[in-house]
Amino acid sequence: MRRSPDTQAPSDAAERRRVPPVIVYAVDALPQPDPSLYQAARAGMTLISALTVPPRDGRAFTVPAGHLFRIVSVEGPQVGDLNIWNAHDLSERFFSGKTRALHATHVTTGDRLWSTLPYLRPLATITHDTLGWYGWDEDGAGVHDVIGTRCDPYTNKLLKGTEYHHCCHSNLSRALAAERGMPVTEAELHVHDVMNVFMCTGYTRDTHQYFMKASPVRPGDFIEFFAEIDLLCALSACPGGDCGASHSDDAAPCHPLKVEIYRPDRAVAGWHQPEPSDYSRAHSP
Ligand SMILES: [Zn+2]
Repeated sequence: MRRSPDTQAPSDAAERRRVPPVIVYAVDALPQPDPSLYQAARAGMTLISALTVPPRDGRAFTVPAGHLFRIVSVEGPQVGDLNIWNAHDLSERFFSGKTRALHATHVTTGDRLWSTLPYLRPLATITHDTLGWYGWDEDGAGVHDVIGTRCDPYTNKLLKGTEYHHCCHSNLSRALAAERGMPVTEAELHVHDVMNVFMCTGYTRDTHQYFMKASPVRPGDFIEFFAEIDLLCALSACPGGDCGASHSDDAAPCHPLKVEIYRPDRAVAGWHQPEPSDYSRAHSP
């Protein structure tokens, strides 16, 4: 337990601590995705394109609304850092913090990746996760976190004093710059906190510090998403590889990641693109 050394616990400290935890958001009220609708979408689908993200690098790709995409492990255990934008408006992007608050620190089948304010709508729904069996391990870790940020050269410089140019932040920036024909310094302003695909992480029980351990992902594993709106995505094959030891350097063995984009064979009956939040944006009485 962390205590400030210059404070003393009051006499009713135990009582104050004993109050029950309350789930912050009434997530029971969340519009629930209809599993049968997504099952119908994935029952018959055709691979329409695929790309490979090279190790220690990033690639961008677009996914039309109503299509599915998979991130697939190939060759060896590898973590991927995923950014998602509205393909028509980069100001609407994946909101890691709210996704974490609405679902959990780690996401799996049935969870949705929400967009930033003032939009707040599902960008994508996770429709399959071959690592769904992992759950929570004895260290309290899970897979596919939305608690990390992304490895970046600024934090690396702060901590090590050295420059490294293949952190996920840089890989995502270069990928977006290439896709949109913008300078990398402009692209990096659009890069945001990621979904850490395949990454196995948690908080230490004693100090509540962010930790990682070698990803349980193996070649053939994949996570699959249904695109709720037209998406622009960027994926980095993290220089940390399976993130079992280090990151932000060339030490770890790294592997490519494959992205596959699928079109459902039939129109998905009953599915509609989610609208942005209809909050008035008055912000005052
Ligand atoms: Zn990384």
